[in-house]
Amino acid sequence: MSNIEQTLSIIKPDAVERNLENEIKTIFKNNGFKILKEKKLKLEKTDAEQFYKVHETKPFYSDLCGYLSSGPIIVMILEKENAIKLNRDLMGATDPAKADDGTIRKLFGKSIDKNSVHGSDSPENAKIEIDFFFNN
Ligand code: UDP
Ligand code: MG
Repeated sequence: MSNIEQTLSIIKPDAVERNLENEIKTIFKNNGFKILKEKKLKLEKTDAEQFYKVHETKPFYSDLCGYLSSGPIIVMILEKENAIKLNRDLMGATDPAKADDGTIRKLFGKSIDKNSVHGSDSPENAKIEIDFFFNN
């Protein structure tokens, strides 16, 4: 049965700063993802705190929100069969040092915090994250 999904992808500040936008989008397109919507913006720290609310009890929460709001980001809605899991596979492990060869984080990530991309981790969070950036 077909399972076309939409997922939220973010090109994080470390990757935007290094002008990796087109290279990363090309990887998505070459892997069969359609970019349905996209925009470039800079978050306020309070926006990042809302976006990453699931992590509010973690020790890295404040640094993470400071980082995500430190410079421009590109947010995109990606669509494909099983897009949520396939985007996570294509991104690779959270820590670029542990990511598989060929994944975006292995190719471009600098560290566990500056890991170049975000991707929704479940259908529930994909909907919440897409609404956060696009349905207001
Ligand atoms: N993160 C961090 N330190 C950690 C774990 C995570 O800075 O020890 C950051 C990292 O940038 C990651 C984000 O917090 O992308 C969200 O963490 P999550 O566990 O959801 O990883 P992801 O879903 O991005 O792979
Ligand atoms: Mg996550």
